[in-house]
Amino acid sequence: MSRRAEILAEMGLAPVWRLRRKQELPVEKASPGWIELKAAVPACTACGLHKGRTQTVFGVGDENADWLLVGEAPGAEEDRLGEPFVGQAGRLLDSMLAAIGLKRGDNVYICNVLKCRPPGNRNPAPDEVARCTPFLLRQIELIEPKLIVAMGRFAAQTLLGTDASIASLRGRVHRYAGVPLVVTYHPAYLLRNLPDKAKAWEDLVFARRTMRAL
Ligand code: URA
Repeated sequence: MSRRAEILAEMGLAPVWRLRRKQELPVEKASPGWIELKAAVPACTACGLHKGRTQTVFGVGDENADWLLVGEAPGAEEDRLGEPFVGQAGRLLDSMLAAIGLKRGDNVYICNVLKCRPPGNRNPAPDEVARCTPFLLRQIELIEPKLIVAMGRFAAQTLLGTDASIASLRGRVHRYAGVPLVVTYHPAYLLRNLPDKAKAWEDLVFARRTMRAL
């Protein structure tokens, strides 16, 4: 079994081979829809994080949203409540969204790279990111957003396949699978680095301008 197939199998997303008609070659089952994906995430034991979670944090909002915001991983409050960005960083995110006329759930979908909380809010490990990313990528395929805002280096680096810094990625329109993608600081970083809030504001204005021009 290939590495990819192994990881997908552990996540409950293994391709199902079935015969369409007797004589036909087997076809790979279409990629999972929302229902299968929402069942696969809470059942996932692909990495060690499942052992410490209260629950998985799938994502929240409009499943046909134009705006997709991607963060890093659930924190303590998110792990407790099962919704992304509901702690202090989330409150900052909500007010930043409001400042550009957006609201959680209203043409906006919010999720994270990791669906389980890393203990003590440590950084996601490369293996955890590798094993969890297929869920995020499928969410993106299903949502078909017009614009992705990657918040923080884990979201940006994962989706852009780079190890470049946030500072060097800001202020440009990147693409993930053809979808325009804008990079900004993570709200939790902004809580610790208040002067960079102005830069995050610039990024959101840039994102709004980019969206309007699409
Ligand atoms: N930080 C994140 O990256 N995601 C959350 O859901 C909460 C805090």
